[in-house]
Amino acid sequence: MTEEKMRFEAEVSRLLDIVVHSLYSNKDIFLRELISNASDACDKLRYEAIGNPELIAGDSEFKIRLMTDNVRNVLTIIDNGIGMNKADLVENLGTIANSGTAKFVEAMSQAKDAKKSVDLIGQFGVGFYSAFMVANKVEVTTKKAGEDQAWKWTSDGKGEYTIAEAEMEGRGTQITLHLNEDAKDFTEEYRLRHIVKTYSDHIGIPVILMKADGGDETLNEASALWTRPKSEITDEQYKEFYKHSSHAFDDPWKTIHYQAEGAIEYTGLLYIPTMRPFDLYDPSRKGHLKLYVRKVFITEGADELLPPWLRFVSGVVDSQDLPLNVSREMLQDHPLLTKIKNGLTKKLLSELESSAKKDIEGYNTFWEAFGSVVKEGLYEDYANRDRILKLARFKSSKADGWTSLEDYVNRMKEGQKAIYYISGEDVDALRRSPQLEGFDAKGVEVLLLTDPVDEFWMPAVGQFDEKDFKSVTRGGADLNDVKADDASDDKKDDAEDKAVSDAELDTLIAAIKIALGTSVKDVRESDRLTSSACCLIADETDMDLRMERLMKQHNR
Ligand code: ADP
Ligand code: MG
Repeated sequence: MTEEKMRFEAEVSRLLDIVVHSLYSNKDIFLRELISNASDACDKLRYEAIGNPELIAGDSEFKIRLMTDNVRNVLTIIDNGIGMNKADLVENLGTIANSGTAKFVEAMSQAKDAKKSVDLIGQFGVGFYSAFMVANKVEVTTKKAGEDQAWKWTSDGKGEYTIAEAEMEGRGTQITLHLNEDAKDFTEEYRLRHIVKTYSDHIGIPVILMKADGGDETLNEASALWTRPKSEITDEQYKEFYKHSSHAFDDPWKTIHYQAEGAIEYTGLLYIPTMRPFDLYDPSRKGHLKLYVRKVFITEGADELLPPWLRFVSGVVDSQDLPLNVSREMLQDHPLLTKIKNGLTKKLLSELESSAKKDIEGYNTFWEAFGSVVKEGLYEDYANRDRILKLARFKSSKADGWTSLEDYVNRMKEGQKAIYYISGEDVDALRRSPQLEGFDAKGVEVLLLTDPVDEFWMPAVGQFDEKDFKSVTRGGADLNDVKADDASDDKKDDAEDKAVSDAELDTLIAAIKIALGTSVKDVRESDRLTSSACCLIADETDMDLRMERLMKQHNR
């Protein structure tokens, strides 16, 4: 029998190093990860078998089994899911395919102190590789559904692994863990029972403990969580299901479990995370909303289910109406899916609206994590633009925290017609900008925009509550009509108060124009400054200054 030796991808080695040497105390989670993978593998095969029932002929009851040997200190996790062939093994257990995990490794290598890396491990988990937290040797014997050859993958987690041909009865995957001395008690029945109950109760496939006395014991509830009545689901179960279905390791900020009835029927179990996933801006990122049809897994991360500006939402949608044999290709432009997408979007919008009112602090934290993505909806999702605009929060020259446009409008000065904004890289620099002096002096509030996405939605939206958005860096941002707070401030038009005469000013302006030549379009007197001598502005019809800078950076 030939055995092939291979090296892990550099990132995997680094990850394994972190896993083995981390001080992370909660080793139990390795079992959650392996059971989660076994359950995913069963879901995948169940889907494949819809079009090709041969694949599960003779073995159609999916199950996950745990076998222990406390003499040899071995724990084995067995599933009859889709299995892996040789190429799958190399791809899945030799590299880091998951872009979230890849980003995690990157963050870990930058986190210098141990405390920080422990926090990170707790938050992000490491999937299959967590097996090396408890085992010094891992063997994966597997046969892919529909294929004849079985394979055995073996590694001690130290840079290399081997792959060899193997013998195996049926299809599926068998993971054998040779436990470390200090992890022996993972062969104890009470221990396994407790871990499965805690972390894997929501798994829809039975997790069966093969007992020493020959009897079998099913350890979990084994009914899909979203199909159970809300009243029977605990917070902990909702959280664990979030971690499983979203491949996430934070706690959800919002859990939304509901039944849509009427024209279209589906169950939604939606989660809004607390933390922004590392890869939210990665164009190759797959979403984590899973589509099921009457409890059968169909696909994950279908663009047809959610608009891109809600791509951080994860969970499950289970449709009653879609045909079971719907192929992933057929999902595109499926009219039912469009309806589900609209339903989910409306549901999420109203949840966000009520949180924005009832839980201001929580909502602001949400906005900090996901606001820049939500704002994409302002130019991409025309139908919902007004609702999204009301959900948007901004930093401003007057308020310290976050402010809504409605609050801004309520604070507008008498005679103020526009909503003013300034954009740039960071809030503190913007606060110090000389462009704001005139506005501050008149008590006029200015929104401080720092997200690149702001340059895109602003021109597309143009108005809120019939008031134009106006950049303070434009010549026309005129404050003459705004009544000042204090009458003594209002002397700008008063010629006698001027330090220089109009004639002197004309001479000065002419001299500056000659000095600057063609590098500026015009030089003007202005009442927008109070303490600085001059500032740069853009003409009413020109591009906003920051947009111009962004375009220059991209050589347009
Ligand atoms: P993730 O589950 O987030 O994709 P993991 O590290 O947990 O990442 O697993 C890596 C990959 O290995 C999985 O995506 C899957 O393709 C494969 N895999 C792991 N366990 C199994 C299994 N029991 N059966 C089939 N494939 C598996
Ligand atoms: Mg996994």
